[in-house]
Amino acid sequence: MAEKRDYYEVLGIDKNASENDIKRAYRKMAKKYHPDNNPGDKKAEEMMKEVNEAYEVLSDPEKKSAYDQFGHAAFEQGGAGAGGFGGFGGFGSGGMEFDMGDIFGSMFGGGFSGFGGGSSRKNGPQRGSDVSVNIQISFEEAIFGCKKEIQINVTDKCDTCGGSGAKPGTGTETCHKCNGTGQERVVQNSIFGQMATIRTCSACHGTGKIIKEPCQSCHGTGKVRKSKKIEVNIPKGIDNGQTIRIAGMGETGTNGGSYGDLMVTVYIRPDSFFVRKGMDIYCDVPITFVQAILGDEITVRTIDGEQKLTIKPGTQPNTVATIRGVGVPNLRNPNQRGNQVMTLKVKIPTDITAKQKELLKSFYGGESEEKKGGFWEKVKKDFKGE
Ligand SMILES: [Zn+2]
Ligand SMILES: [Zn+2]
Repeated sequence: MAEKRDYYEVLGIDKNASENDIKRAYRKMAKKYHPDNNPGDKKAEEMMKEVNEAYEVLSDPEKKSAYDQFGHAAFEQGGAGAGGFGGFGGFGSGGMEFDMGDIFGSMFGGGFSGFGGGSSRKNGPQRGSDVSVNIQISFEEAIFGCKKEIQINVTDKCDTCGGSGAKPGTGTETCHKCNGTGQERVVQNSIFGQMATIRTCSACHGTGKIIKEPCQSCHGTGKVRKSKKIEVNIPKGIDNGQTIRIAGMGETGTNGGSYGDLMVTVYIRPDSFFVRKGMDIYCDVPITFVQAILGDEITVRTIDGEQKLTIKPGTQPNTVATIRGVGVPNLRNPNQRGNQVMTLKVKIPTDITAKQKELLKSFYGGESEEKKGGFWEKVKKDFKGE
C-alpha cells in the first residue's frame, strides 16, 4: 500500500485551518478533481477519492482530533496508540466508493448529511434535547385548524456572550492540556504493561478551548434558561393525541450542535353535541313523533353551520341520516372531508293535555272509538269507500 498523504496536505491547508477554511478548501479541490471536469482521467479520480477521505475526517471534530493526535493510525483497525478507540472501524461510507454525483449533490444542496455523522460523539457538536409540551384545543379548532401561542422554558444560548461562555471582549484560548483537540491521552501502567486510553480533556471538558474570564450571565456555560413564546400552527383535521414537531425550537446544542425540536402534543376538548370518530362526526338529532310519522324538513347543526335535512314519512326511531362532506378534513388533504352521521331520536311527549290524550286514543282505536275494529279498520273502510 502506498504511503498515505497527510490529509491537510491533500486539502492544501495548514493544521490551524478553521472549519470554514476546511470546507472552502474541500470545495475548491472537489471542483478541480470532479469527474465531470476530468472525464476519463484516472489520476483525477484518485485525487478526488483522497480529497473526500481527507474531508470526511477533517470536517468531523472527533475524527479530526483523533487524526491530529495519531495520524492515519487512528483509523486503522487496532491501530497503534488507539487503545481506547474501538469506535472508528474505518470509514462509514464503505471505503469511499460512493457516487460522486451524490456527494456533489448533497454538498451544494447544503448540508453534508452524506458523511455518516455519528450521533454518539462526546466532544463534538451535540444536538440539543427535544422539548415536549401538551396543549388543549376546542373541537372546532381541531377541525378548522388554528394558531396557538405557547410559552416554553428552554435552555438557550446566552445572549451576553453569544454562547461562547466567555465574558464579552475576553475571548478564549486554545486549551494547553489537549492542544485544542478536546481529548487527552492517558497512559496507565497495569500488569499487562502500558495501556493508553483516550478521554475527554479534563481541563476544557472537550471543547478544546479555555475561557479566560467567564461570562457573568451564564457563569461560563454559554447557556441560560429562557422563557419563549412560540406560535404553533395546528393543521386542519388534527386528531386527539397527535404530535406536531417544530424543528429547531427545542434546547440549544453543545459545542455548536444544532437545536433540538419542539414536540407539541394536541388534546381536543370534547364537544357537548358532536362526537368525532376518525373523519366522521356523530350526533343525535331529536325529532317529534309527529315528524317521524308525517315526515318534515328540519334544520340541523353541522360544524359548517345549519343545514336542511328531510325526514321521510314513517321514519323509525334511531334511523341514521348522513350529510356528506361536512365532517373532519383529511389531515393530508384538507379538501377531502368526512361526513356527519346523525341518529334521529324520536321524542315521546310526557306531558300531554286531556284533549291530546283523547285524540291519541282515537288514533289507536281506544275506548273513545265507538265502533269495533279500531283505527286501521276504519282506514280500510275509508279506502274502500264504505
Ligand atoms: Zn454567557
Ligand atoms: Zn483541553
